[in-house]
Amino acid sequence: MSRVQPLITVAGAGGFIGGALVADLRAKGHTRIRAIDIKPFDHWYQKFDDVESHTLDLSLLDNCRIAAEGAHTIYNLAADMGGMGFIENNKALCMLSVLTNTHMLLAAQEAGAERFFFSSSACVYNAQKQLDPNVTALAEADAYPALPEDGYGWEKLFSERMCRHFREDFGIQTRVARFHNVYGPHGTWRGGREKAPAAICRKVIAAKASGDHSIEIWGDGTQTRSFMYIDDCIDGILRIMHSEILEPVNLGSSELVTINRLVDIAEGVAGIKLQRHYKLDAPRGVAGRNSDNRKIHGYLGWEPSISLRDGIAATYAWIEGEFRRECDPSEAKSLASSGFSHGSKPIPGDGYVAQSRHMDTWRQGIPAGYGAG
Ligand code: NAD
Repeated sequence: MSRVQPLITVAGAGGFIGGALVADLRAKGHTRIRAIDIKPFDHWYQKFDDVESHTLDLSLLDNCRIAAEGAHTIYNLAADMGGMGFIENNKALCMLSVLTNTHMLLAAQEAGAERFFFSSSACVYNAQKQLDPNVTALAEADAYPALPEDGYGWEKLFSERMCRHFREDFGIQTRVARFHNVYGPHGTWRGGREKAPAAICRKVIAAKASGDHSIEIWGDGTQTRSFMYIDDCIDGILRIMHSEILEPVNLGSSELVTINRLVDIAEGVAGIKLQRHYKLDAPRGVAGRNSDNRKIHGYLGWEPSISLRDGIAATYAWIEGEFRRECDPSEAKSLASSGFSHGSKPIPGDGYVAQSRHMDTWRQGIPAGYGAG
């Protein structure tokens, strides 16, 4: 007699990582998957006819109850987010994701789900530890004393603790991974929410298509980052979810590169050399950031290992296909640069108070003794 498989809910399944997770679970033979996202189906990166799919706003508790009902395992990958240009210009929207995570946790606990995964971010780390491009990789303890990325990072740090307290007080098995820059096919590559690897691939493709062999780079190109390919991310999510790692753990590549090196790699894949123009007033994020993988390695004997060269080759090929399918050659020039996007969901009062936007809000309201000034 065949046993009924436990139901798995994936929140944010219309997005990049959620979509890849559903695809992977399905490929591994899971037949009871519920996929939820606020976006209409035709905007999902991956959607499967044999997966129960819903368009629901998970910032609302009643919708989270629909998502959690009967679920054994819940992966919450839903968040209003994007690359640096988005999170620096949409702090309130980023913080509103607290509703989604809080309501998903409440609904999961009410429904008796056994396990809950929360996707946190390297943006929780103390900004003071990321001032030098020659970074020391960030270890989990570097999140405290807290001075995370304003808006987005604060929400993630708060939600991490919410997961911890739901586990300690209510017994739901929460697991938290701090993702470091994830990239790959089936993700955002245009429109203002895309992250550096997709933006650079698109700009190289657009430069080739337009015949104007130049590229705009945000910042001076010396800022350093590590980038994790989507397959490593999904592998890591599943390993962490089924582990006994109770505290938040880094899930990122430790292959540190400058943005200039990332451009070299994309140019290498494309077989082209471009004239570089540096946009020094663009959002650039912290000077340097890398993932210290001692903890994940210690627990699992595993860490992300797909090289940036291999991952960019696959990502470039996918974006090139999308570009050919969706873009008129006359658009190529505009796609060779990036804009800063505002929120997807207009809310009353959406707009900016210029004075407060230009203050360095990292330094606002920080108690004496934390040395942020
Ligand atoms: P994504 O934007 O592609 O996916 C997030 C999805 O959540 C979107 O499809 C969006 O429509 C959905 N969503 C937003 N608000 C919702 C709501 N109220 N109800 C239902 N769905 C809603 O982003 P992603 O790259 O797939 O990121 C997934 C998770 O990983 C997010 O929590 C993000 O903060 C985290 N993360 C991602 C990265 C990265 O590099 N991609 C890095 C650190 C953390």
